[in-house]
Amino acid sequence: MRAGLDRDKTDPTKYRQEGNPLMNNTEKTMDKIVALCKNRGFIFAGSEIYGGLANTWDYGPLGARLKNNVKDAWRKRFIQERHNSFEVDADILMNPRVWEASGHVGSFSDPLLDCKECKMRFRADNLIDEFDPEAHADGMTKEEMFDYIKAHSVPCPNCGKHNFTDIREFNLMFQTYRGVTNDAKSVIYLRPENAQGEYVNYPNVLRSMRAKLPFSIGQIGKAFRNEITPGNFTFRTIEFEQMEFQTFCKPGDDLELYEYFKNYGRQFYEDLGLPAENLRFHDHEKLAHYAKAACDIEFLFPTLGWGEINGTHDRTDFDLTRHQEYSGQKMDYLDPYTNERYIPYIVESTYGLDRTVLALLCQAYDEELVDAEKNDVRVVLHLKPSIAPIKASILPLSKKLGDKAMELRDELAKFFMVDYDDTGSIGKRYRRADEIGTPYCVTVDFDTVGDPEKGIEPDNAVTIRDRDTMEQVRVPISELRAWLAEHIGG
Ligand SMILES: [Zn+2]
Repeated sequence: MRAGLDRDKTDPTKYRQEGNPLMNNTEKTMDKIVALCKNRGFIFAGSEIYGGLANTWDYGPLGARLKNNVKDAWRKRFIQERHNSFEVDADILMNPRVWEASGHVGSFSDPLLDCKECKMRFRADNLIDEFDPEAHADGMTKEEMFDYIKAHSVPCPNCGKHNFTDIREFNLMFQTYRGVTNDAKSVIYLRPENAQGEYVNYPNVLRSMRAKLPFSIGQIGKAFRNEITPGNFTFRTIEFEQMEFQTFCKPGDDLELYEYFKNYGRQFYEDLGLPAENLRFHDHEKLAHYAKAACDIEFLFPTLGWGEINGTHDRTDFDLTRHQEYSGQKMDYLDPYTNERYIPYIVESTYGLDRTVLALLCQAYDEELVDAEKNDVRVVLHLKPSIAPIKASILPLSKKLGDKAMELRDELAKFFMVDYDDTGSIGKRYRRADEIGTPYCVTVDFDTVGDPEKGIEPDNAVTIRDRDTMEQVRVPISELRAWLAEHIGG
């Protein structure tokens, strides 16, 4: 399940950075980040020319690159570098029986009610929580929520009146029909989570990969939830992408693996560039029906507060037992060391890809006072070079140097995502690169190519300017590729 944002514990002072006079006075806000995303090609409103579609967003050229780089980093850490780790790519559409076995058909729903006066629709638990945060609606049954709303005459947040319908359970799965007839038999769902794609493939991976416990199945893919809750940009959307990691283990080994993956996830985020002070664990007191233990990793978003970006769950043998029951297929494991048969336990660690990208953009965003006297401020994204959408921007000092610079661009493009910019002053071009997080600007100047008329020999070198320090170094073109590879890292 995806938890909400924790507004109460927001500490905006966390975003005031020491040693940066401008950010001490100007708070980093979500509005600024949303504006940058739209203006600089990271994230656009979905179906924008038609007025959009609520809670849908399209990744633009730079956002798509950033997202892919995060996927690559995850895949390297979770699949490539680990032992006994396998990736699958399961279909979004699954046999509807899967969702009966998983419990989603029966109980994956929000308690909704409508205001009879203004026709606005609300989640009963949100209504109560906003009325009184101490009421703890998440521990109430549907009946208890209904009674609470009545007893306290909870008003409609929109029109202020108190005249609600009964609470109805609204299933969060998107439902459609297969084939040409819209009858109950042909109902099919868009998956509300990726996990079941890994669980139903457990016997296939076990057999085909000759896997032994403990082993893991990872998957990156889209999931869909028909939620009515407002979105907070890409934090809560109806279509979203997850990076999931399911570890199958011997019962009894589960709690140790659970603790291990909590920390492994936190380290992954720190290595991506989210600092420890903006991350925290949030242990669940109230557990989902399938879980023995659950913990989120939360990130401190500007404006929004602490929000979940990862969840780690000890799901015990719940899922495989249910699939054995509903499919009639054996899901047990024959332990080659002890000859015991048992159904493996599952420790799940799920990473919200869209939320991870949003957290990285929020963390990277900065406004820096470059020159106090001139009140010169630059906007810069301090993204880690390995995840930055563009690794280097190739800049000819003059348009006369365009051929040489373009030749360099084409050569580097075989190895890195680079761009070419010959418009405006070098200073303006640096700022454009800073704003999208490009770590290196490579300038081709007259010394690079020389000038035979003036008797200047070419030095066959370029100037590399660093985004974060704004310092410059001269590097021979013959060493440029190696220099960039070393500094970008992986
Ligand atoms: Zn109303």
